[in-house]
Amino acid sequence: MTCREPEWSDDDRAWMLALAYYRDTRCPLCGGDIRDCTAPEDDVVVTVPPPRRCLATDELRLATDQHKDKPGAGALLWRTEVRRR
Ligand SMILES: [Zn+2]
Repeated sequence: MTCREPEWSDDDRAWMLALAYYRDTRCPLCGGDIRDCTAPEDDVVVTVPPPRRCLATDELRLATDQHKDKPGAGALLWRTEVRRR
């Protein structure tokens, strides 16, 4: 008989159960808690705050646009680095 260490600890299993619970409660459309965004309209108030701009996406699009017509442009792997001043 062979005894093996379990691959997952009790903590690992608890974290995975918590993650499964979290995922199960997300709305596939808005990403919020499905119990909130599907509640009767009299029970919730939904607002849309002004959008925020992703500066990393701005810079990435500028950079990729400059290369879009060059040969092999589709094979370039791009990434952004964000540093605080
Ligand atoms: Zn939703």
